[in-house]
Parts: sequence; C-alpha cells; structure tokens
Amino acid sequence: MSVTLEHESPLPRAGGNPAPVPAGNSRDPSTWAPNEHINRRSSIPFILLHFLPLLAVFTGVTWRAVWLGVILYFVRMVAITGGYHRYFSHRSFRLGRVPQFVLAFLGTTAAQKGPLWWTAWHRQHHRYTDTDRMRRWSGGDIDVRRWLPSDLIVAAAQADPQLRDLVDPYTTMDALPSSLAPAQARAREIYAAGWRPPVPDGPTREELSSVLSRTPAAA
Ligand SMILES: [Zn+2]
Repeated sequence: MSVTLEHESPLPRAGGNPAPVPAGNSRDPSTWAPNEHINRRSSIPFILLHFLPLLAVFTGVTWRAVWLGVILYFVRMVAITGGYHRYFSHRSFRLGRVPQFVLAFLGTTAAQKGPLWWTAWHRQHHRYTDTDRMRRWSGGDIDVRRWLPSDLIVAAAQADPQLRDLVDPYTTMDALPSSLAPAQARAREIYAAGWRPPVPDGPTREELSSVLSRTPAAA
C-alpha cells in the first residue's frame, strides 16, 4: 500500500544536491516536519482501494478473475522491486528504452505513484537512513546525544537482556521501528556508559586477496 505525504516537497534531484535534511531515522519523531507524517485524509483512496475486492461478495469470482489477480500481482511485484527499486532507484542493471518504458508503465499500475517520485524518495531514504551506519563504519563513534538508529537499539539488548521484550517483535518483523522508541533512553544509558556492540571478525588480508585473485576481471 502506498501513502501520500502532506505538502509534498519538490522532488529531490537524483544524484544532485537536495536541500540538506537532518539524518532520517536518527531523529526524534516528535521533531518531524508536517510533510514527514502520513496524511491520513489523502491516504483514504489508497485504503479504500484495498477494500474494493470485498465487492466480490456481490459480483462472484470467476476463475478468469483469479488468474488475472495472480498474474497482475506478480507482474506488478516485478515492476516495483525490479523496476522502481533495482533499476530506477539503484541502477543495478542496464536497459534499453523500450523495456525501461514497460517497467515504468507497469510500475504505475501498482498505485505507488510514478517512477520519478518513487526513485527520488527511495534515494533520499538510503541517503539519510544509512548515514549513521556509514559514519560508524568509517570509524566514527556512536553519538549518544542523537536519536539512536534501530540497529543500535537492537544491539543494546545484548548488554541488557531486559530490552529483549521491546526489541524482539521488531527483529522478527512483527513491529514497526517506532516500537523501539521506549528503549531509546535505556540504550542511550548503555552507550553513554561506554558499552559498544562486539565487532564480528572480518576476513584477513590474505583471505581478501585470495578472493580478489579468484574473481574474474570485469569486462
Ligand atoms: Zn533500496
């Protein structure tokens, strides 16, 4: 299902320099701007659309309709995950003009807005949700003054098993990231006291070079 945002801001330019936005999920949701919250009123058409199939009670269901539903489900899933996501947002592969158009067209039939809107917001998503982790990967320390990202809250449960009750539903995908908010304060205490998640052993220099020498040179 897709939702629309209030007072949509202008499209961020792909690969360009969008207006600076503070790190996405690292911020306290109570400080979000109005255009970052779900607009419940303009989402009504999307919600109603999902109830539309219930009219089958009156129309009956033919096998043709069942097949059409199954086929459209898979076609649109490929158009969104392979087209909007992997192709348009991440440029994971190359396509000619015609298949590009076909994927874009099929994607629009999934009612998730157009490829430009989807791609722009998805790139924003990665730009800001990955920022904190990228900073830590490049050697930066955890900033306990900021809203902790979800991976750090989950990790903190290793230091304090009492956090498990709050963290487990999120790690099993039974709860949204917002369910971790009550664990923020305790997790921050843990990091402020100096605890850090254990870093798993990485490959040695020799192992890396043997992997690299086995990989055929890119064309
Ligand atoms: Zn992505």
